Amino acid sequence: MKNVIILSFGELWLKGENREHFIRQLLGNTKKAIEEFNATIKRTDGSVLVCGYNPDDEQDILRNLSLVFGYSKIVKAIEVDADEKKILDAVVKQLADISKPITFKVQTKRTDKTFPKTSPELNGIVGHKVLTTYSHFTVEIHNPELVVGVSIKQNKKAYISFGEEEAACGLPVGVSGAGLSLLSGGIDSPVASHQMAKRGLEIVYINFESFPYTSLQAKQKVLDLAKILKPATLSKILIYCNIKEIQETLNKNTDKKYAVVLTRVLMARICDEIVRNPKLLEERISNKKLLPKNKLSMLITGESLGQVASQTIENLTVVNNAIETIFIRPLIARDKEEIIKIAKKIGTFETSIKPYEDSCTVFAPQHPITKAKQKDVDLELARIDAETLIKNALSTLEIVEI
Ligand code: ATP
Ligand code: MG
Repeated sequence: MKNVIILSFGELWLKGENREHFIRQLLGNTKKAIEEFNATIKRTDGSVLVCGYNPDDEQDILRNLSLVFGYSKIVKAIEVDADEKKILDAVVKQLADISKPITFKVQTKRTDKTFPKTSPELNGIVGHKVLTTYSHFTVEIHNPELVVGVSIKQNKKAYISFGEEEAACGLPVGVSGAGLSLLSGGIDSPVASHQMAKRGLEIVYINFESFPYTSLQAKQKVLDLAKILKPATLSKILIYCNIKEIQETLNKNTDKKYAVVLTRVLMARICDEIVRNPKLLEERISNKKLLPKNKLSMLITGESLGQVASQTIENLTVVNNAIETIFIRPLIARDKEEIIKIAKKIGTFETSIKPYEDSCTVFAPQHPITKAKQKDVDLELARIDAETLIKNALSTLEIVEI
């Protein structure tokens, strides 16, 4: 008898031709998620088995695996030979600790069709054994307190489990390309990054800081957020870009009402350079393994329509118009309350609400323009040397490993 964890594939079963590629990616991601532990990962029919680990690590391994995108169910199980007597002995032994009256049912799944009993027959045999061994157990088919799972797999092993949990679902990170995610220290952008990783996107983060106007703690907070997200997103790098000169120049030379939208335009143009010119990152990273496997092809932000004055369709349009690279805004239709709920669930909320100033609040006007017109933005941009400012900002790029 040995302890194993079984992970069932999710949505990727639907993906016909890509299936093998997706599964390979998923197995690689699974390995990464628990690389700090000693464990064996094996593929079986319709699922992945994790075994051979130190029982003391089981809870930590379970937690990490529950965050890997691409699995629909996760369950702790006992592995025995697919032999009727061994199955019955294992079930009886596992239930010995339950002393209070309880309702149960047995649910057998059999992918090994050569096993001599059908699933309904095995349900009956196991159920009968439980009832005759423990008088405080009662069968309840529709709404049992305990589901005894028996899964007979093609490797001639049986897996006995007690209740399965929903896993992270989504698609394996890496199968949908890569994106540059604008990560502030706020509540929204970590959630936006998480949502896109859930759709299989490999995420590289960029944070715009304004040191010394903003603190080193503010920079650290962003790295902390990236670290919290790491078991799910598997992201490896965070890029810092200093925009102090941009903000000072805008503050001095342009209409203050436009500060936010102009900063966003310049941030977008910096990101666009990074996406279109992979050398910018390659030249700055000595460990090439940290570079994204896929080509960066989109920008991700945590904007939500109308959440703050800067997030109107007019302002978002002006920022979109500044570059050709596509913007993905996964939270655009979400209420703040919904976003907070997800932030709490994924563990970023408590860090996000720490009170360190974001670069965007430096020089922020009291009444920012809410419906910026392209021609007015262009007039403001004409007052600064955007090319040089962008070039200078790109020379400050600092890449850190998460
Ligand atoms: P968040 O909670 O993500 O900070 P927010 O509601 O505070 O969002 P804004 O400050 O208007 O909204 O920022 C909108 C989006 O722009 C953010 O979600 C983020 O993607 C990006 N952004 C803002 N400031 C920065 C920054 N300093 N570095 C990187 N991205 C940023
Ligand atoms: Mg913010």
